[in-house]
Amino acid sequence: MPDNNHSDNNDNKDEEYEKYCYLCRRAEKDAGPFIALPGGMHICRDCMQKSFDSFSSMNFLDLSKMPNINMSQFMPFDDIPKSQKVKKKKHEKKEEEKPMPTLKDIPAPHKIKAMLDEYVVGQEYAKKVISVAVYNHYKRVLTDTVDDIEIEKTNMLMLGPTGCGKTYLVKTIAKLLNVPLAITDATTLTEAGYIGDDVESVLSKLLAVAGNDVEKAEQGIIFIDEIDKIAKKKETRSRDVSGESVQQGLLKIIEGADVEVPVGAGSKNAMTPMVTMNTKNILFICGGAFPDLDDIIKRRLNKQSSMGFAADLKDKYDKEKNLFKEVTTEDLREFGMIPEFLGRLPMVFALEALDRDMYIRILKEPKNAILKQYAKLLALDEVNLLFDDSAYEAIADKAMEKDTGARALRAIIEKFMLDIMYEIPRDENIGTVTITGDYINGKGSPVITLRGTDQ
Ligand code: ADP
Repeated sequence: MPDNNHSDNNDNKDEEYEKYCYLCRRAEKDAGPFIALPGGMHICRDCMQKSFDSFSSMNFLDLSKMPNINMSQFMPFDDIPKSQKVKKKKHEKKEEEKPMPTLKDIPAPHKIKAMLDEYVVGQEYAKKVISVAVYNHYKRVLTDTVDDIEIEKTNMLMLGPTGCGKTYLVKTIAKLLNVPLAITDATTLTEAGYIGDDVESVLSKLLAVAGNDVEKAEQGIIFIDEIDKIAKKKETRSRDVSGESVQQGLLKIIEGADVEVPVGAGSKNAMTPMVTMNTKNILFICGGAFPDLDDIIKRRLNKQSSMGFAADLKDKYDKEKNLFKEVTTEDLREFGMIPEFLGRLPMVFALEALDRDMYIRILKEPKNAILKQYAKLLALDEVNLLFDDSAYEAIADKAMEKDTGARALRAIIEKFMLDIMYEIPRDENIGTVTITGDYINGKGSPVITLRGTDQ
């Protein structure tokens, strides 16, 4: 019958729209199955429960006193206007659920290091340290050995100039091991009660990355970048909201504790459901550039070497580029990290500053090197993209002029590749494009070979 068809069509149409809880505004896919109310309204089970709780604790029914309820929402019971509906994505691809690794899946340290070698150039010491630490960590977590010898968690502190691969190293290892990773910036954290994220927000982030699977999140990795920015301030006339107190706040979660964590939203409010997360098996890696720490190290080393008979030259360490590898806990304390915080990061190691050779290797070697990605894109148009040695050198030289480490490489490459990617597909006769140093330096054009004439 035509009428029935009509209503079927309408039902199908409605199915295409995401349902939102009328009270907390979460979508059904996030909040679980909804309860349908008259007037096309839906409400999630959490809000329904909270409503019942509020009703039973009230002497009389005063909806206006209920949290988060806007009375006007209830007034016209007609359908929700179309403009407020969000259309569901056509083929919402669910991330393939990969199971957490078991002990069998955790490769031996030398294998982890070999996998890292495919992506991260240089930084041999850091790769070795992190491979061993991560291997031991997951051995400890996955076997859950409970005996008299309790293996302690090896949280890490990574030092190294900006753009030398700290974040990249952690990202790569989390991907290789298939464990959830949350990256957060220490500068966004503040003591609870102040504007900004309180420290539990880092756990919320990890929980979200783990698809709200608490068990999975409890075995993840949290990387806190810019940790040097929460050093204790030298002159503390004003209250130090963002520095020392944030370090204090982090102590508990880094060590291992049961923490109430808001699910989903970063901030807590009456309607945000909370779960308890235990952080004892979460691996915390902190990283920072620690500017001026080298002066502290240099001062200490100079003091040591100027004592006794074998007094060295005073400027012996002035030219040393990688002083961070000499760092001690004392130096970090002088920098402003509090001893309790350092005590919970037993593994301290440094990454090297990148030099010209390393830049060239970063351009050429990693499995997913950015130039390889461009070559692959052009290969889809059947065009060969080549770089001669002078091109690699010119890009590295330009990157050396900036102070942003390997991050500068991407910026430089993207600038000159824009023209190539725009112009080349225009002409179907082009077979090979060779980028030269002169082209990078704006002194010439790339060398172009037409199809059929190569070789
Ligand atoms: P930071 O030390 O400031 O955390 P990142 O890890 O974010 O620096 O590095 C920025 C980018 O530079 C990375 O995404 C990566 O592509 C590249 N990079 C940095 N160091 C290396 C390295 N040693 N090997 C390969 N690529 C690197």
